[in-house]
Amino acid sequence: MWRNQLRTTLFNPKTLAQLLDKNIAQLQNQTNFSTLRGFNTNQRTRVSRNPQIQLIWSSEFLGESFGFCSSGSSSTRCCWNCKNQGPFLSCQSCGSVQPVDHSIDYFTIFGLSYDRDRKFDIEDGSLEGKYKDWQKKLHPDLVHTKSEEEREYAAEQSARVIDAYGTLRKPLSRAIYIMRLEGVEVDEEQTVSEPELLGEIMEIREAVEEATDSQALNQIQSQMEEKLRRWYELFANAFESRRYDEALKSIQRMTYYHRVKEEIVKKL
Ligand SMILES: [Zn+2]
Repeated sequence: MWRNQLRTTLFNPKTLAQLLDKNIAQLQNQTNFSTLRGFNTNQRTRVSRNPQIQLIWSSEFLGESFGFCSSGSSSTRCCWNCKNQGPFLSCQSCGSVQPVDHSIDYFTIFGLSYDRDRKFDIEDGSLEGKYKDWQKKLHPDLVHTKSEEEREYAAEQSARVIDAYGTLRKPLSRAIYIMRLEGVEVDEEQTVSEPELLGEIMEIREAVEEATDSQALNQIQSQMEEKLRRWYELFANAFESRRYDEALKSIQRMTYYHRVKEEIVKKL
């Protein structure tokens, strides 16, 4: 039960930090730290500013059991089978499928460098090739001769690649994900309080209700797409210059326009 609770907090640096603060002694005595391999590298940097957590992190998190090889003073990821350094979803040297490593973010899975660029935009078509490539490598038909454990790794990796693809492909889910990487949680159910947006929402709702034919609905649909494009841009600018409050507001708008689009699709 404790581990489940721990897993659910892994992606939220704030709750994890609170949890660790409260339970440091308990953690040290009871928790098998190998269950924490899903820790995100960005979160690791942020949370480790707390000296207590840094202590646990450095003494327990980085070790052989964590899937790392030590080389001199630094630790790098290594293959569970051939110990080759720097394996990814599957080892380039021996081809073994590796266990899921949640410190690898979705961008890295697709060969995009999130850490370097912190960019919201992804060029069209830059995900598809890599996606197909991974799905081929992790396909059950290709790993059926491998051990049960490795087949399990392949199934988990494949599910993660599907998740990553779905998340990064759509600008709204990508925006929410990229904010999470920065440690900013997005509350998708947050109530709208901005008068301007409230007025706009009412207007759009009326227009959708009154639309009697597909032509009228399609027209609203294009308006929503136009608005989405505009707010995607505003989000990208705000995000790239670290204006997270503004970025959150843009996400709220995008979420709303996106819902209208979905509603229209149902009516069409
Ligand atoms: Zn290997």
